[in-house]
Amino acid sequence: MNIYRLSALSDNYIFLLHDEATQTAAVVDPAEARPVLQKLTDLGAVLTAIFNTHHHSDHVGGNRQLLAQFPDATVYGSAADRGRIPGQQVSLNEGDTVEFAGREAQVFFVPGHTRGHIAYYFPPTEAAQTGELFCGDTLFAGGCGRLFEGTPAQMVDSLTKLRQLPDQTRIWCAHEYTLKNLKFALSVDGQNAALQQRYQQVAIARQQQQPTVPSLLGTEKQTNPFLRWDGAALQTAANSSDPVQTFARIRGMKDRF
Ligand code: ZN
Ligand code: FE
Repeated sequence: MNIYRLSALSDNYIFLLHDEATQTAAVVDPAEARPVLQKLTDLGAVLTAIFNTHHHSDHVGGNRQLLAQFPDATVYGSAADRGRIPGQQVSLNEGDTVEFAGREAQVFFVPGHTRGHIAYYFPPTEAAQTGELFCGDTLFAGGCGRLFEGTPAQMVDSLTKLRQLPDQTRIWCAHEYTLKNLKFALSVDGQNAALQQRYQQVAIARQQQQPTVPSLLGTEKQTNPFLRWDGAALQTAANSSDPVQTFARIRGMKDRF
């Protein structure tokens, strides 16, 4: 399974999964159809699946047009998003699995950004040694999604599920927000040497217009304030010893940053 990262809209990423053996492809969160159709043409591949993480238009905006071109493709989304995802055929819940290219992805229910948000996790296999997590707008490189429909407690639960995956898991998040996220991170966790170093690397990468996605979960655990609500530095910054309250206060500061 090859993974291609396609840029869309102003700062979205669409991920195209390609199975060379069968010349089929799947797409995660097609914000728009155009870059996906272009890549499918370049590869000579047929689209068989659309995996949506949540109902926002910058994640499902291309569904209809892709279905028009590939009417046999299956559209997957959260059971809780039924009626909000164009063309949705399959309703997924926590613990369900989906298949592509001979690999099986586990579905995690990760509400918080929206009340129906899900993530798709392909565990490592003998042939493919890294796990791949498609987490939409739940976990970002250096940050997390805004709480539009969920509570801080829900988001902490959701991020706790993702934080338990192996450090080598690649984090395929749906936006290029990393530099801004890390600027904020430094404002609440400024003594963190790993964070300082990451900020420098990301600043250089962005100057050169290089993408910063995917990142590794191990890096996120060391540097992302929204995975560090139970650590001393963030609890001091939030003036709280309660993990959920720490998360909520840090998230509130980011909203106003
Ligand atoms: Zn969203
Ligand atoms: Fe989004």
